[in-house]
Amino acid sequence: MSTQPTFLPAVATIDLTALAYNLLQLRRILSPGCDVMGVVKANAYGHGAIETAQTLIRHGVVRLAVFSIDEAISLRQAGVTVSIVILGPVFHQQFPDLFMHRLTPAVSDPSTLIALGQHAAQGSSPYPIHLKIETGMGRLGLTQNELETILAKHTFPSSLRLEGLMSHLADSDGSDPDPTDQQICRFERAIKSVREAGFSVPLIHLSNSAGIVRFPSAHYSLVRPGIMLYGYHTLPPTVQAPDLRPVLSLTTRIAQLRLIQPGETVSYNRTFMAKQPTRVAVLPIGYSDGLNRQLSNRGHVLVRERRAPIVGRVCMDMVMIDVTTIPGVTVGDEVMLIGQQASERITADNLAEWAGTISYEILCAISPQIPRLYHSA
Ligand SMILES: *Cc1c(COP(=O)(O)O)cnc(C)c1O
Repeated sequence: MSTQPTFLPAVATIDLTALAYNLLQLRRILSPGCDVMGVVKANAYGHGAIETAQTLIRHGVVRLAVFSIDEAISLRQAGVTVSIVILGPVFHQQFPDLFMHRLTPAVSDPSTLIALGQHAAQGSSPYPIHLKIETGMGRLGLTQNELETILAKHTFPSSLRLEGLMSHLADSDGSDPDPTDQQICRFERAIKSVREAGFSVPLIHLSNSAGIVRFPSAHYSLVRPGIMLYGYHTLPPTVQAPDLRPVLSLTTRIAQLRLIQPGETVSYNRTFMAKQPTRVAVLPIGYSDGLNRQLSNRGHVLVRERRAPIVGRVCMDMVMIDVTTIPGVTVGDEVMLIGQQASERITADNLAEWAGTISYEILCAISPQIPRLYHSA
């Protein structure tokens, strides 16, 4: 029999009310008739895919997207019955799983289309798929030529139903809108070709979070927000972002305190040396939990509503902070790595800046071994 631990030395708290709030903020700016496909890949950007999916569904979202079949199967096993699009590539060996769990592939190449068609021929009704078009991301998707060849040769399998047509924006958060406008143009061409070939495609989708805000002409029938659902964005400063609330906070507790003397060092490779008597707190969280090692001697945390710097290298399972200037610190005190204490706040954007990355990576790096606690008002 397994029992839940009663004390959690490190925990990610997920504010489901904030998630619902962000969804609402996005819905407010959607063009009429446009709906949300919630992107819950990478464990819902570290927020926990199942609870995130369930919350989105409770708030009226009827379509989800993940990267892999594995991610989708976990959702199905948790009782998620809504449509799930697989954004990533699907191998032939995965077709039985795909069909058994009623997952919708985003098909990106002609050979997969044909093979899927053969597999679907065993079924009684046409199996829904989305076609992914390459418009500038340089990753997955049929080129316009490949698309036109399929349409001209009538090789779209009759065992499949073209439910959706999609592409992905490469630079919707970039400073120059031109590359995105070009992508929209190329996507329009693909839509036109498909319609002229006699297909009526119910679902057309292109935009990620930044695209939703900046390119209303790219809303079509669905949009695919990820990062903004979780309360973050990477829009350029010139663009007005929706009012978003960070959904995740990451906390731990002080495990040990020690006073070190001038000349003494902290952590691997002795990169921090005390210049005066220094009070060092040990935290039971490290890079194996997703705390980026680039935060070594760079990041800050909150203790007793004050900022404390990370000192020395981030270790695999621990990290040290300097609490010399913060009065009254004791073992067991809460430490905020992402989140708010009184008027002080540290966001995933702050960590991203310190670590030389983006909020996306900070969030989805938070290891599944950190327990998630879910709150809703
Ligand atoms: C991850 C992803 C999204 C969501 O992107 P955000 O920038 O997080 O909104 C949308 N579409 C595809 C194909 C993706 O891979």
